[in-house]
Amino acid sequence: MVSTEQALAQAEQQCQQQGARFTAARRRVLAILLAQPQPQTAYQILDLLRAEQPGAQPPTVYRALDFLLRHALVHRIESTNSYLACNSPHTHDDDAGHHWPQFLLCDACGDTREVPLASELRQALARQANEYGFHIGQRPLEVHGLCPRCQGGQ
Ligand SMILES: [Zn+2]
Ligand SMILES: [Zn+2]
Repeated sequence: MVSTEQALAQAEQQCQQQGARFTAARRRVLAILLAQPQPQTAYQILDLLRAEQPGAQPPTVYRALDFLLRHALVHRIESTNSYLACNSPHTHDDDAGHHWPQFLLCDACGDTREVPLASELRQALARQANEYGFHIGQRPLEVHGLCPRCQGGQ
């Protein structure tokens, strides 16, 4: 587990290598998400940002998120329309360099965990899509169910 500071330094380095500017707003939004173990909606992010910067406006958050998503530093969880900082940039890229994570979402408590997509699964999906002449983009997989804690309860 890397610290927030390390993760921010890595993100900055990655952006520099790609010729992108890691602006103060982008850095702050990423820092906010790194500090949250669970996904946050854009408005939750805005609230957290306003705690540090009272005048912050929604476009600041949306523009920063757009940038962070393009650079795979943050993931969008479609099912809950929220955002999660990537827990391991680069470590679950496929051969083509695509970041292809999988999310395990607990329907009872909302716990969301990012795990690397198993390579067998990745290959099977690519093979199947290929049969239909379809090229898969970078859409992450979202798997719903119950986390270990919620299975034990009741
Ligand atoms: Zn990731
Ligand atoms: Zn749960």
